[in-house]
Amino acid sequence: MSLQAIDNLILQLKKLPGVGYKSAERMAYQIIKFSKSDITSFIDALKDCRDNITSCQKCLCYKEGDKCLFCEDKTRDKDTLIVLSSFQDVLSFERVSSHFSYQLLNGVISPSKGISIKDLAIDKLMDRIKEDNFKEVILGLNPDLDGETTSLYLEKVLHEEFPNLKISRLAYGLPMGGNLSYVDDLTLQKAIEGRKIVNE
Ligand SMILES: [Zn+2]
Repeated sequence: MSLQAIDNLILQLKKLPGVGYKSAERMAYQIIKFSKSDITSFIDALKDCRDNITSCQKCLCYKEGDKCLFCEDKTRDKDTLIVLSSFQDVLSFERVSSHFSYQLLNGVISPSKGISIKDLAIDKLMDRIKEDNFKEVILGLNPDLDGETTSLYLEKVLHEEFPNLKISRLAYGLPMGGNLSYVDDLTLQKAIEGRKIVNE
């Protein structure tokens, strides 16, 4: 026995990241209990995102309507550009300060996911540095293998293209309240490399 409409809803929900069949099924049976007005609000929210959220042609961040909140903001840092892989990372940085300038790569080099250099927005990054004349670029990619590979590649090509550009990486620290025994090798290795002399 199968109900076509519910099967279709499950199929759509399964497209969400981290949602398998069982979770999708649970969600679907929850959704069909929604009131008619809740269903309408749900559909309207999806339509609103589809119709009004686009990517800024310059920094590639999401924007609502015509104006990019980042590119149009004159108070943003004009000297330092933070390179990030996805918009969710932008939101993390915005929680710290709302003065950064960003450029998205739309991913990182990842042989396991079939993402190569040509899939990344490296031309946009080059254009942005040239156009806005940034003095420093901070590579803010995730401290994992794919992020490392991408950062090393970017360090090389950026240095070749802009010999006077300062290129920096985030200092990856050990998590506060963490236990050294549970820290993964890459974090520990980065913590050692990024160590600070304390008796100067
Ligand atoms: Zn923008």
